[in-house]
Amino acid sequence: VKAACELLAAGEVVALPTETVYGLAANAFDAAAVAKVFSVKERPTFDPLIVHVSTRAELSRVAIVPDDIKHTVEKLLNAFWPGPLTLILPKHPDIPDLVTSGLTTVAVRQSANKIFRAVGKELGQPLAAPSANRFGRISPTSAHAVRQELDGRIPLIVDGGACSEGLESTIIHITAGEKRPTITILRP
Ligand code: AMP
Ligand code: MG
Repeated sequence: VKAACELLAAGEVVALPTETVYGLAANAFDAAAVAKVFSVKERPTFDPLIVHVSTRAELSRVAIVPDDIKHTVEKLLNAFWPGPLTLILPKHPDIPDLVTSGLTTVAVRQSANKIFRAVGKELGQPLAAPSANRFGRISPTSAHAVRQELDGRIPLIVDGGACSEGLESTIIHITAGEKRPTITILRP
């Protein structure tokens, strides 16, 4: 955790385990570090990243929860966070446009992985972390698979063993609707 935080604080990228797949993490507020995530992954900048918060309170630094869906968001977070549920919400202006590919919304979740959460807490910043594979390839679910994808491109891979879920997070979007909010599943 200490080694990962030192690198992240210095603007580096680090591969970290989550319960879904391994992520390639950068400080979400550091646009230069986020740019490294895109270049290491060879990911096109029109494909936005998921931002991970380590505490519920940190959500307000990343996204703005509109009043008309607040109740629904709170119920979902109570039921599924920490865990593999990603919410699309209006973006906080402090989140660099690169993270969201210029969208006005941001994808945000709280991982249940102990190592990932410890790094986020210790760093005190949300982490932008897409899957730790090169673009168009399968998401890695072990440190060994990350190494096969990104060896020589990144300074640290934290080995937390096999991912307990092994599948990408579910992504949902919530709209206010006339009578009650509507939840749309963007990724199962
Ligand atoms: P990955 O973390 O590699 O699984 O990729 C994250 C995925 O989240 C992207 O490929 C998008 O499909 C989705 N995503 C991220 N941000 C947004 C957003 N603001 N709106 C809709 N989808 C998003
Ligand atoms: Mg991916």
